[in-house]
Parts: sequence; C-alpha cells; structure tokens
Amino acid sequence: MKNFDPKYNDIPKTEIHCHLEGAIRTQTIIDVAREYNLKLPSYEVSELDKHVKVYDQLQSLQAVLEAFDIFQDSITSPAVFERIAWELFEDCAKQNIKLFEVRFSPDWAFHGHNLDWDACLEGLLRAQERAERELDMAIGIIAITSRGMGAESCVKTVDWAIRHQKHIQAVDLADGELLYPMDDFVKPIRKAKDAGLKVTIHSGEDTPASAVWDTIHAFQPDRIGHGIHSIEDMKVVELIKERNITLEVNPWSNYLTNSVKTIEEHPLKKLFDLGVKVTINSDDPEVLETNVNNEYRIAYEVLGMSLDDIKTCNRFACEASFISAEKKTRILETYFQ
Ligand SMILES: [Zn+2]
Repeated sequence: MKNFDPKYNDIPKTEIHCHLEGAIRTQTIIDVAREYNLKLPSYEVSELDKHVKVYDQLQSLQAVLEAFDIFQDSITSPAVFERIAWELFEDCAKQNIKLFEVRFSPDWAFHGHNLDWDACLEGLLRAQERAERELDMAIGIIAITSRGMGAESCVKTVDWAIRHQKHIQAVDLADGELLYPMDDFVKPIRKAKDAGLKVTIHSGEDTPASAVWDTIHAFQPDRIGHGIHSIEDMKVVELIKERNITLEVNPWSNYLTNSVKTIEEHPLKKLFDLGVKVTINSDDPEVLETNVNNEYRIAYEVLGMSLDDIKTCNRFACEASFISAEKKTRILETYFQ
C-alpha cells in the first residue's frame, strides 16, 4: 500500500497524528526479537507481516490486538526505542514530511519491559535532534495517556509530561472511547492544559457526533484525533469551527477499523468543504500498511480533493502544530509558503 508516486511524494508534507508504537518496521521487530530472545510467530518479514499488519477491513478487533501485542513486546530498551524513532523519522523523510509530530503512550509502551520513562525519552530526543539536523524536519512530541490504562496512569502520564514540558508539547487521550467514560480523565487533562501543555483527544472515531460535542465541552481540546463522525450533526460541525479546533483525520485507518463502511464514503472532503480545518495523517503507518503519500492518493483519487485542497490541509496542520514557533518558522517559510 506504500505509495511513492511523485505526484504525491514531491509535495512537502505535514503529519500531526502518528503513533510511534504503530510505526515499527517488521525487520526491526525481527532484529529485536533475535537480540532479546523474544518469541515471534515468524522470523521472516513476509510471514511476520501477516501477523503485524492489517490489510483488510477489520471483521474483529483481534487481529489488531495481536499486532499491537507484538509491537509492545518489541520495545525492550531505551536504545531500541531510539532506533524505532529514528527509523520512523527516516521513513517520514522519504515521503518528504517536513513537519512531524510523533506521539506515544509511555505507560503502555514501557510497562511490558519495565523501562525507565526518562531514559526512553532521552533516546527519542537523540533521534529527534539527529533527524532535525540531517533530514531537515521540525519534530514535535505528544505524550499519550491511554484510556485503557486507567485514571491513575493518566495522572502519572500528565505529571511526567508536565515535568518534561521543555521537550513534550502536548498530551493526547487515546484508546477505546466507547469502553471508557471520559469522567476519570477530565481532571488530569485539565491540569495538563493549565500547566501550558496543548491537548488533543481521540474522539468521534467510532463514536457519534455527540461524543465530539461532549469531548469539546469537557476537555476544551486544541485539536481532535479523527472527529469524523461530527459530520452527522451540523451543530457539532459549527462548534468545531467556532472553537477553531483542527481535526487530525486518518482516512485509511478509519476504513480499516470500520469507522466508515467504505473508503468512498469517508467524510474528509465533506468536512473540508464545510470549512472545518482538517489535516491528513496516517495514524499507525506500519500496522495499517499506509503512509501519508497513500492518504494523499486516497484524498485525491478516491475522495475528489484537489492537490490545492491537500496543500491547504498542510497549512491547517502548520497553523495547528504544537511545535514552537521558534522551531517551525524556518520550515514553514522554506516548505509551506
Ligand atoms: Zn490515533
């Protein structure tokens, strides 16, 4: 599914919704498993791909859960975390991504091998610094708190992100919106906001417009992850516009997880035409076997957006990016004028 058609590849890109844990190369999973004696269903890339990638629309969540178990188990040390981050930045550079925000859930990613969060962050920062220098990118970092890890984990993650505010720009509340009510997370997320961190919330992915409405009122987020079901209620669309909230949309991911029935009915263009600030992202590029080039192909060839529309989405992403002005200004002037 990777797409390196120059029509899309040559466009300087932004990506502001990408999970590091869903972006581990299959070869890296195998290398790490060999080094750390981890059990895998296969040690051949083409065979293992069948276990770590979602190629078709999901009939059950089980396939994706198995993939994420393997990904989680692969994060065995701060050095491995640094390698994964560096390889993701390399893969971004190949697609001409110039402004990139990476997100990860420290509690989810690091608890399996009981890793030191600070040491892992240091590894990520080394990869970030190198990529910004060698690949000419501006990179931001978002700490995720996973709903499934519970309220205590949310408090711990927010406090950690606040402590590292020099390097982490925002927090994100992710994971099954249907399964876990938002009440437990409102207080810590508000605390992050009060401390000066930006806030993005996964909402309206497989939940109705009313969930987006509630999310906006409870968390006052700067951005929303997905938010696609807001299209079902014009009141919610108006609220998003009124609050100047940017949506981080991931079309292929939405199709694979059954959040839209067919890719043709994805509401990206409809939201754009209604004046909502939408951006185009890949979500979990390795697990979902996609990349931003492929998302552009979908936007252009399937959903009927023009290349100028897509460039406008890049401008929205630049404006809504959590990366400091000091760091992003040169990149914006060089690539997104
Ligand atoms: Zn996501």
